[in-house]
Amino acid sequence: MNQKIRVRFAPSPTGPLHIGGVRTALYNYLFAKQQGGDFILRIEDTDSQRFVTGAEEYIQETFDWLGLSFDESPRKGGKFGPYRQSERKEIYRHHVDELLDKGAAYIAFDTPEELEAKRNEIPNFQYDASTRKTMRNSLTLSADEVKSLIENHTQYVVRIKIEPDIPITVNDLIRGEVVINSSVLDDKVIYKSADELPTYHLANVVDDHLMEISHVIRGEEWLPSAPLHVWLYKSFGWENTMPQFAHLPLLLKPEGNGKLSKRDGDRLGFPVFPLEWRDPKTGEISSGYRESGYLPAAVINFLALLGWNPGTEQEIFSLDELVRAFSFDRCSKSGAKFDFEKAKWFNHKYIHATRDEELTAMFMPILKEKGIEANPEYVCKVVALVKDRVNFVKELWEQSSYFFVAPEHYDEKTVKKRWKAETPDQMRELIRLIENMEDFSAENQERIIMKWIEDNRYHTGNVMNAFRLALVGEGKGPHIFDITVLLGKEETLRRLRKAIERISVSE
Ligand code: GLU
Repeated sequence: MNQKIRVRFAPSPTGPLHIGGVRTALYNYLFAKQQGGDFILRIEDTDSQRFVTGAEEYIQETFDWLGLSFDESPRKGGKFGPYRQSERKEIYRHHVDELLDKGAAYIAFDTPEELEAKRNEIPNFQYDASTRKTMRNSLTLSADEVKSLIENHTQYVVRIKIEPDIPITVNDLIRGEVVINSSVLDDKVIYKSADELPTYHLANVVDDHLMEISHVIRGEEWLPSAPLHVWLYKSFGWENTMPQFAHLPLLLKPEGNGKLSKRDGDRLGFPVFPLEWRDPKTGEISSGYRESGYLPAAVINFLALLGWNPGTEQEIFSLDELVRAFSFDRCSKSGAKFDFEKAKWFNHKYIHATRDEELTAMFMPILKEKGIEANPEYVCKVVALVKDRVNFVKELWEQSSYFFVAPEHYDEKTVKKRWKAETPDQMRELIRLIENMEDFSAENQERIIMKWIEDNRYHTGNVMNAFRLALVGEGKGPHIFDITVLLGKEETLRRLRKAIERISVSE
C-alpha cells in the first residue's frame, strides 16, 4: 500500500478534553510522524445539545502547550476542510441522500412516544430487520405517504438498513480481527431532520473517507461502533479505501477497577485534564496538568507509556525518541492503570533535566508574585542548588525561600535539638572567624571552619546545624557552604547575629 498515512484526532467539544483523549491524540501524532504522514484535528460538533462553549479553544490550547502541532485543523485549514463538522452539513446531507437512493438507508417517522411504547411492549426491543416492518418508516409506508409527511414538516430520522446474518470483520491493529454477526446491530439513526444534522456515526465515516484517513486510532470505547462503521463503508462502496482501525486500551482508575474519571482525580487529588477548566455554566474549576506545574515533555512521556511499552527498561523518552520507537505491536489490549505517583516521578526527572536558565524563567513569575525582585543570575544559581529536591517548579519556592528572605521564625524542633547553652558563644566565635575571612569561597570557609571546630573539640553536628538553623530557619537545604557563598559574607553574618538575638536557648 503506498497510500499516504493520514490520521485524525476527532474530539467532540463537549467539555474539557480528558487526559485519555490527550493520549489518543499523542498516539496518532507519534504514528503519523513516524510514517511521514499527516496529523489532523477534526472537531466533531454535530451534537448541538452537548456543545460546550470554549471546549474547542481548550483543545487547541492543549496541543499548543504540548507542542504537538496539527498539519490540518480548523485553525490552520487544509485542502480537506472545513475541519469543523458543523460547517459540513451539506456534505452529509448529500451522502445521506446517496444511501437513501441506494436503498441502504430509510426514513423513519416513529415518535419518541411510539418508540417508548414499543420498548415497553417488547423486551430488549431493537430497531432492526426483525422489527422494522412493524414500525412507521419508508419501508412500511407508501411513497406518497412519506412524501406528504415530509412536506408537512413531520420530523423524521434516517436509519441505516443493516441486513441480518452477515459477518462483519473489523481489522484492528491492536486487537487483530474481530468478527461479529450483523444481526446484533440495530438500524442506527444516521441523520435527524430536527437539526438537519447527521449523527456521529455518519459524519465520522464520511469525513474519514473524504479526508483520506488511512488509520483510525481512537479509544477502546469506540470499538463497539466499529462494525457499524465498516457497514457504512460498505454501504457507500468504499470498502477498498477503508481505514485501518486501532482501538487503544482504556485508562483505568489507579486501583484498576473501571475507567479513570474526574471523580478519581478529585478523590485522590490529581488532575485528569491537561489544562485547568472553568465550567462555563457552574463556574466550577477543575485542575489541569499545566497549572499544577507539569512540564509538557513530562506529560507526553508519562502518557506515552500508558498503554504502550518499548519492550526495554527505558522510561525516559524525548518526543523524537517516542516517534521512532512507537509501534502498535507494543500497545496493550488491556487497560492501563493510571499511576499518579509515576506522573510526579516523570516531572521530577524532567525538572532535573531542564536547563537552570529555563527553570529560572519559570520561577521568576512565582518570585514576583511573592513580592521578590531578584536578579535572574542569582535565581539561576539558587535553582541549580535546589532543583534536585522538587517535583514541580512551584515547589522551588518552598525549597529556596530563605535565599530571598531571611528567616523570621526558627523551627522549634531543630532549635530544641541544636541550639544548646554553648551555641550562642560558639556562633559569636564563628562570626569573628567569618569576619576575618578574606577568601569567602566554599573551600576556604570549609577549611577554616572545620579546623576551628576540630581545634576546640566542638561537636561538628551541633555547630553546623546551629549554623544552618541561623541561615535557613530549619534543618534542611543543600550543602551549607553552597548556601553561604550564595548569600554572601555580609548576609551570612547578619543572619548569624539575628539568630543569636532571636533564638532562646532550650534547656
Ligand atoms: N468524536 C468522537 C470522540 O469524541 C470521535 C471518535 C473517533 O475518533 O472516531 O471521541
